[in-house]
Amino acid sequence: QAKNAGRNNSVIYEAGLQRLVNERLEIERGLRVALDEDQFVLYIQPQVDHMNHLTGGEILIRWLHPDKGMIPPFNFIPVAEETGLILRLGYWIIEHTFACIAQWHAEGQSVPGQISINISAWQFAQSDFTDQLHILLDEYRINPKHITLEITETALLSDIGDTKLKLALLRKTGFRISLDDFGTGYSSLAYLKDLPLDELKIDKAFVDEIRPGERQPLIESMISIGRHMNLDVLAEGVETEKQKQQLVQMGCQNFQGYLFSRPMAMSDFPEWLKAHMDMLPDPGHDYCI
Ligand code: C2E
Ligand code: MG
Ligand code: MG
Ligand code: MG
Repeated sequence: QAKNAGRNNSVIYEAGLQRLVNERLEIERGLRVALDEDQFVLYIQPQVDHMNHLTGGEILIRWLHPDKGMIPPFNFIPVAEETGLILRLGYWIIEHTFACIAQWHAEGQSVPGQISINISAWQFAQSDFTDQLHILLDEYRINPKHITLEITETALLSDIGDTKLKLALLRKTGFRISLDDFGTGYSSLAYLKDLPLDELKIDKAFVDEIRPGERQPLIESMISIGRHMNLDVLAEGVETEKQKQQLVQMGCQNFQGYLFSRPMAMSDFPEWLKAHMDMLPDPGHDYCI
């Protein structure tokens, strides 16, 4: 009987595995079509300072599938990364972000702040990554000082020498560099302190841990590390006023999360701004795109 049960289990296991493999294949096939047919939509989520003034926004990709509707990045970015399709997708994201900014320019829309773009590890590791950025900057006449590149800890770890050089080059061009998902990887501080960075992004997982009235030694030290390294510190996934207040007390200056705004279609951003004039920084501020 035990033997039978074992056999049944392995049948169930294999059926499950087969389903996973099929799903993955289907996503991979779908992604190729999606790239050819422009089924992706750029979303943006506002970022604010302690006064709730807008400092910029993060670009978040969505897949608008003709049959399945909106597919969140969690369901296709990993497949895109495993199959190498992330290179085409990553290029698509940068190009369309730049094109949208150029269009805002042409229409005379001024959108304050930085636009942050997520760069995947493989994309960052490409030897022509910086060249691609230069070509797109030229093509869309974008000033790199308005663009922040969000790179994860794990992406930066792969080739230390190359990473440092590349980051230095990108910053020399004028890009801001943000370390995304800080604290979730395995990078040592000794290594991080040598990297040319501008911002640390504290991952939502840490923000979720904040409890009213409780001290948060871990986040507190992450924020203080950032500040000692002279970096801007931004906390993501902020959902409550309490969380924000505690983060402010711990020295965090920048925030992103549902408390301020959910991500929205990038094309809706100028309208959203008009409805949120109280979130605009003081006039005369030098950060209009
Ligand atoms: P991430 O870069 O850490 O992005 C933050 C995620 O947290 C976004 O999820 C955002 O919608 C979500 N979020 C922000 N504030 C809140 C909040 O207050 N509460 C909750 N519950 N969630 C919040 P999203 O858009 O589903 O993206 C998930 C991940 O997918 C991103 O994590 C990023 O790693 C990846 N991703 C998204 N867009 C891109 C892209 O354009 N390129 C690449 N390479 N990866 C992307
Ligand atoms: Mg990000
Ligand atoms: Mg993040
Ligand atoms: Mg995160």
